[in-house]
Amino acid sequence: MTALVVTDLTKTYRNGRTALNHIDLSVDAGAFFGLLGPNGAGKSTLIGIVATLVTKSGGQVQVFGHDLDRDPWAVKSSLGLVPQEFNFNTFDTVEQIVLNQAGFYGIPRRIAHIRAEHYLQSLGLWERRKSISRTLSGGMKRRLLIARALMHEPRLLILDEPTAGVDIELRRSMWDFLRHINAQGTTIILTTHYLEEAESLCRDIAIIDEGRIIEHTNVKALLQRLSTQAYLLDVEHLPESLPQLPDFSLRRIDGATLEAEVPRGRPLTELFAVLAQNGISVTSMRNKSNRLEELFVRMLGNKERGKEKEKEENS
Ligand code: ADP
Repeated sequence: MTALVVTDLTKTYRNGRTALNHIDLSVDAGAFFGLLGPNGAGKSTLIGIVATLVTKSGGQVQVFGHDLDRDPWAVKSSLGLVPQEFNFNTFDTVEQIVLNQAGFYGIPRRIAHIRAEHYLQSLGLWERRKSISRTLSGGMKRRLLIARALMHEPRLLILDEPTAGVDIELRRSMWDFLRHINAQGTTIILTTHYLEEAESLCRDIAIIDEGRIIEHTNVKALLQRLSTQAYLLDVEHLPESLPQLPDFSLRRIDGATLEAEVPRGRPLTELFAVLAQNGISVTSMRNKSNRLEELFVRMLGNKERGKEKEKEENS
């Protein structure tokens, strides 16, 4: 089953700005899907159209087989949206906000109360249920948006930059929560600027740039395209000058940590042997994340270079 199918989708705003330029995209049911792209790429527009908040200029959208034009209500009730902005009534209490949402979807009061307790508990907001939402911290407001989006238990949860401005500790607990509901069967699509977030959470991603999908693949395959693999090594007895290794690049992070870039496919034993010869012992190692960022920069960088070339050729 496919959660989302977008076909030949276009959006031109009234000011003439084309935000989406013939987009095709599909997301499998059960996926944890990341939509990446620089600012102004068209991510929010795409999400807005799927969530029935923005009208499209052309093309089709289907959510779990429901066509957006023919059955917008079925689309609306199949998905929950966590927007970027806090768009709840800031004078309502936390509890009122989630219960009102349930009312909007016609959920019986008794069930709404059970769900409210469940989601507010899961998101660490239960103690604050009687608080006026205006008084919550930014991180709490963001979790409230998630609780609200889940009240009608949608099969697809769409989050627009869910962890923007959220501190690292809270970000990790939100990731755990999202992983948990994904494992329970909710399809998740998120947009993010944090490539580490995409790398850590998403199995599949699409990269959107200037209203076009420039890449649609799974994260593992994308990362495999990088010719080197970076590791962080915790070491003892690090000398002042680092050993030189042809093909491997070593960088000191601090007195007890080394970063090693290793050509893909080369045995790590070569690295360890040279380190051991130099009296450096490795106590632990881990993959350096954020490689997606590197790739992303490279891809968009290539595109910029392509454009320059095109200009040169046309001039
Ligand atoms: P992203 O979410 O990737 O940052 P957006 O979808 O918000 O990108 O924006 C895509 C493009 O559409 C941008 O150039 C933006 O300026 C433009 N845009 C977004 N919303 C509107 C609007 N309501 N009216 C006119 N142009 C808009």
